[in-house]
Amino acid sequence: MYILVFGPPGAGKGTYAKYIARWLNIPVVSTGDMLRYEIEQGTELGKRVSDYVRGGKLVDDDTMACVVRNLLAAPANANGLILDGFPRTLAQADVLENLFAERGGKIDLIIEMFLAEEIIIDRLSKRRVCSDCGNIYNLGSKPPKCDGICDICGGKVIQRADDFPETIAYRLSLYSKASAPLLEYFRDKNVRIIEFDTAGTVADGVEFLCKQLANAGFALDCI
Ligand code: AMP
Repeated sequence: MYILVFGPPGAGKGTYAKYIARWLNIPVVSTGDMLRYEIEQGTELGKRVSDYVRGGKLVDDDTMACVVRNLLAAPANANGLILDGFPRTLAQADVLENLFAERGGKIDLIIEMFLAEEIIIDRLSKRRVCSDCGNIYNLGSKPPKCDGICDICGGKVIQRADDFPETIAYRLSLYSKASAPLLEYFRDKNVRIIEFDTAGTVADGVEFLCKQLANAGFALDCI
């Protein structure tokens, strides 16, 4: 089973993908998290994508195609996957379609998250993440209990390089230009899409998602 979580930066993809992964017992992979890890480890891939990721620019489609080909081939993902952050361009959507044609599988569901731009900007500028375990914080609504230290693993809580105001604006414009048109592409292909306004609290969002997934016929461990 393959599920895409789709939406602008800051809409809550990472937060909600973790719940869905737990309910359906399949892994979630965020291509952004993956690339940040490669950068941190100083791998060849990390060196290649570093400037793009830090500047909020899209990594080229050929590199992303290799990344996702390897992801789908990994034994841990054999039973399905929740993809957060891929595809982001029409070319990447084609890559995914071709990979599924080669190896079997299809997109079973897309969760389309949306949120007003001013809320996104507010959330992203207050977003902090643990540099070790990736747990997400918000300085306003969910700060770490001890300033700068992760509640879960004790790691260092930092601001992502691409969560500064100029880069946020750039990422939002990239999303509307390059990524949002993908929804039309998937609608034309009759992929099931759940529309999810993430303006409310996480608790409300979790309840909504759980109901929507159950209505869509998914056997879930969330009710
Ligand atoms: P995210 O964590 O999803 O906001 O992604 C962070 C950054 O990783 C993006 O701004 C891009 O530089 C890069 N990235 C992640 N996924 C993709 C993708 N599918 N295509 C191109 N670049 C990506």
